[in-house]
Amino acid sequence: MSRTIRTAGMAMIFGALVTGAFVWRPWADASAFDPDKPAKRDGFAAGRNEKPNEVAVKPIPFDAKRSMQYLKLLCDIGPRVSGSEGMAKQQEIVIKHFEEHGAKVVKQEFSAKQYSRKDRVAMVNLIASWFPEREKRVMLCSHYDTRPMAHEEPNRQNWGKPFLSANDGTSGVAMFMELAHQMKEFPTEIGIDFVLFDGEEYVFETTGTFGGGDKFFFGSEHFAETYTKTRTTRKYRYEAAVLFDLFAHPGAKFPVEMNSWQAAPELATQFWDIAKKVNAKSFVFERGVEVQDDHLALNRAGIPAIDVIDFEGYRKHWHKLSDLPEQCSGEQIAEVAGVTTAWLQLRK
Ligand SMILES: [Zn+2]
Repeated sequence: MSRTIRTAGMAMIFGALVTGAFVWRPWADASAFDPDKPAKRDGFAAGRNEKPNEVAVKPIPFDAKRSMQYLKLLCDIGPRVSGSEGMAKQQEIVIKHFEEHGAKVVKQEFSAKQYSRKDRVAMVNLIASWFPEREKRVMLCSHYDTRPMAHEEPNRQNWGKPFLSANDGTSGVAMFMELAHQMKEFPTEIGIDFVLFDGEEYVFETTGTFGGGDKFFFGSEHFAETYTKTRTTRKYRYEAAVLFDLFAHPGAKFPVEMNSWQAAPELATQFWDIAKKVNAKSFVFERGVEVQDDHLALNRAGIPAIDVIDFEGYRKHWHKLSDLPEQCSGEQIAEVAGVTTAWLQLRK
């Protein structure tokens, strides 16, 4: 994710002055993005009267150790910047893995022009679908590109050193790779997609003429636009999306991220309710900070989307060379996965 901001007032200023390229759209205006479906945007929460404790939830096996092996496997590639060889290698590994575990994988290919770059760069969102024929679907998502530079390193000379981004994006992919082992037999009647966004942080310039700089979120914005454009031709519909970012460090705490709360309060309530039910201590139903991340574009496209993120708790390694696998814990990934697989079973 790109940054965090604490209040709505600050967000406007920050969005306008600091990010420059990023058009800040408060949720109140967001229904314009999909004018046909504004009232349905939180349709997922039609089940909100369904208390988690009234639903039989089966524990789904999750191998914490193996999830860490996937995390290391991806980090061993080195940086996976959009359009790079490392990214291509990662795509190869991930596509093969999901296909071997029964997913139908679609590459959503596009290209993007970053302000500070001369040329367009090829990008690919990966969509791994289980039960692809089902029209009612939910999405678990994460970005899978790594930032070209470790911009938070205090010594500028370190910015260009290989940045592995273990918990920033990669941890989500690792969790999905482990979850893939259980998906073919998953007890559900809905369709489930794992979506990996490219170009979340293909960012080279963090400042510019108007205090702006490069643009974030190419992948999720392309995905959201495609979803909106195809609304009369596609058969499926996403009822909810859960985004994972900076969640794999031991001792992580997830208060409710405020953009999630504004855009999809019922979904957030449902997710944190089930976390309590399965005794996942890292989820605390409290007001969190406001984060700009890939869930914003999804909400604008009418998909209720929340972000599971502990920015504050990971700040000391965020966009630094120390964002390494050793900062991550398989047990923590397993706890988040446990909430997620319990939540998926609420949908019938
Ligand atoms: Zn990041």
